[in-house]
Amino acid sequence: MQDFQSLGLSKKLLLAVEQEGYTTPTPVQAQAIPPLLDGRDVLGVAQTGTGKTAAFALPVLQIISRSKPQSKRHIRALVLSPTRELAAQIDERFSAYSGHLDIRHKVIFGGVKQNPQVRALQKGIDVLVATPGRLLDLIGQGYIDLGRVEFFVLDEADQMLDMGFIRDIKKVLKLLPRQRQNLLFSATMPKSIAELAASFLHNAVKVDVSPEEITVERIAQKVMFVRKADKRRLIVKIIKQERVNKGIVFTRTKHGANRLVKQLDQSGINAAAIHGNKSQGARTKALANFKTGHTSILVATDIASRGIDVNDITHVFNYDLPNEPESYVHRIGRTARAGKSGIAYGFCDESESGYLIGIQQLIGFEIDVDESHEFHFVGAIPKPGQKPGKMKTGKSGNKPKRPNRNNNKSRSKQSQNKPKSQSQSQGNNNSNRQQSPRRRRNRNRSQGNQN
Ligand code: AMP
Repeated sequence: MQDFQSLGLSKKLLLAVEQEGYTTPTPVQAQAIPPLLDGRDVLGVAQTGTGKTAAFALPVLQIISRSKPQSKRHIRALVLSPTRELAAQIDERFSAYSGHLDIRHKVIFGGVKQNPQVRALQKGIDVLVATPGRLLDLIGQGYIDLGRVEFFVLDEADQMLDMGFIRDIKKVLKLLPRQRQNLLFSATMPKSIAELAASFLHNAVKVDVSPEEITVERIAQKVMFVRKADKRRLIVKIIKQERVNKGIVFTRTKHGANRLVKQLDQSGINAAAIHGNKSQGARTKALANFKTGHTSILVATDIASRGIDVNDITHVFNYDLPNEPESYVHRIGRTARAGKSGIAYGFCDESESGYLIGIQQLIGFEIDVDESHEFHFVGAIPKPGQKPGKMKTGKSGNKPKRPNRNNNKSRSKQSQNKPKSQSQSQGNNNSNRQQSPRRRRNRNRSQGNQN
């Protein structure tokens, strides 16, 4: 197994890494650091939680500390990030890794006053971490000059595009000097990202630590079939029974997140919500309280959760199953970080079985069903031949047509049906969704594991 010394990092950075308690490079670090130190561009498929921040922050710091600017400090490395939380976390990592170097870095994002950011920029910085909106705003006001950037990092590129930042990215690219090193990280690699990467990376080294591998290998996953109306009681029960001290719960809507926080509160569970409607101050406070253990449950929507990097999350609850299968992988990636293990529960109600099928197709295997709870509901189990995605049940999506309260009877029926119904539906849908070789590989592997 590789160690940090063999990656070519300087003594000062090795010391910082040691002080962080890292002993072994993660796969993305082992693959990305050496080519970056050699001056190559890198295209990485990796998501938050894989150690990708250090994979670019360490080489950036090493490269820019090799030489000192003659005159006043200027921006030599630019890191673009889609969300405020992620930007703040990246900047915090730069603090941790640059403790023994003479490097100044700063994070800027919207939703807060610009004056402190402007003052720091005027004093001179070497590394700028930014969200696109505030970056372009301050460029427009003449506070930022990107004309001498040597290193450009585009982080979470797929989310950037999802959030509609493509035009902003193109504007930023036009302001960068031609001669520079580039890095693009994305959790997924759809065509749009591959095209964007091709437009500005040169002869890039590809690094692939795809999320499916994380899913398959380290995170215990369970699905529970339950009525929508029973989800709240089910989650309270699990949180209490398993004494969850650090758990994250995903809801589909901001309103749903707020409502659940209130309901958990009424059951004596200390919870806070984090989503786009909350002010930056409220989001920062909720995250800080969660990190320190003051709040044991964080209820989040997808957008707000990207970039949440909290160690030791033991439980992830998909209170609402996501309609985008990829989100499932991102969500459960909040646990089992940096080699630790965790458990992810998915609550599947009567309107969500199609989402479960889509998720299982993506990850390449069927998630274990936990039916040993009092709320088990057969009406939520996928039907034989069911297609992935939204159920076509008209307005009755939330209401089961034939509620079957006899769990015992139905359980035996379910166990007979389950493997057939789920795999059958996968077979039926091969024509709808092409499987990548990786997914096929994972499926084979997971099937092998089950034997
Ligand atoms: P990231 O994917 O960059 O958000 O990192 C996820 C978490 O892993 C952060 O809390 C890092 O501090 C931690 N981490 C990064 N690299 C290592 C490593 N080599 N060993 C242990 N933890 C790490």
